[in-house]
Formats: sequence, structure tokens, C-alpha cells
Amino acid sequence: MSLHGTYEDDNIFAKIIKGEIPCVKVYEDDVALAFMDLFPQSEGHTLVIPKQAKARNLLEMPGNLLGSYMQRVQKVAKAVEAALKPDGIVVTQFNGAPAGQTVFHLHFHIIPRAEGESLKGHGTSGQADPAELEALAAKIRAEF
Ligand code: 5GP
Repeated sequence: MSLHGTYEDDNIFAKIIKGEIPCVKVYEDDVALAFMDLFPQSEGHTLVIPKQAKARNLLEMPGNLLGSYMQRVQKVAKAVEAALKPDGIVVTQFNGAPAGQTVFHLHFHIIPRAEGESLKGHGTSGQADPAELEALAAKIRAEF
């Protein structure tokens, strides 16, 4: 998948928005949905996706929808910080397969970091235990 192309309605995150496949949800409103990454790079790795646009990446996101979406990204990052008390937080986003993107619906990663703990590789970490994800999500949800 290159940087530019057609938005595919059956991508995983579109299906999550439509409720066709499950996710461990931490936050949702009319603008964005946040849920636990199934293959987390660290404990608490959360994804925030926009609901109002069919944008494959940041470059395709309509400018008039960007501000409200980024507010949600910050809101979720603050809740992750309050819930998990990490030493740092990576907020990152990939555009196009050569940049590391694997799911082609715009998303920001919120990745808590602990001092001295190395990060699991992007796209190479194993699938998380659903019960552990639910426990982390419950802590994050409690901070909204
Ligand atoms: P990208 O590689 O596009 O920047 O990020 C896609 C992210 O989605 C990865 O971190 C990957 O672990 C995560 N992911 C892939 N499939 C699923 C899924 O079915 N459910 C959830 N919750 N996360 C997924």
C-alpha cells in the first residue's frame, strides 16, 4: 500500500468502527474511537482513530476535521498517563507501507514508556491476552 490510494471500506479499523469485529474500547464519541492495540509494543499501547472521515493517513485527513480529532488523541494520551503513570509516552503515526503503516485507516499510536524498558518492535510483537487488555482499558476508562 503506497502513500496514496483508494480507501478500502473493509479495512480492520473500519470494521471495528462498524462493530463488525471486536475491540477493547477505552473511549468513544462522535469524533473518534480509542481502543487497545491487540499487538502492543508496551503495556497500555492504545490506538485513536477518527470516525468522521475515510482517510487512509494523515495527509488525506480533511483539515476541518483534524483539530477535533487531535483533541481526542491528546485526551486519550492524558487518560493513559493518569491511569498508568508511565515515565514517558510516544505518540506516533505512520503514512504508507514504506513508513511502517499496516492498517490503512488513519490512527495515532499512544505508547507508554517505562524508564530503562525497551520497546517491542512495531508489527513484530505478539498478541496480547484479552483479559490483560481489558484490565488496562478499565483503568484508562476510569480517567475520562
Ligand atoms: P500501523 O502499523 O498501521 O501503524 O498500526 C496498526 C496497528 O494496529 C498495529 O500496532 C497493530 O498491532 C494493530 N492491530 C492490527 N490488527 C488489529 C486488530 O485486529 N485489533 C487491534 N485492536 N489492533 C490491531
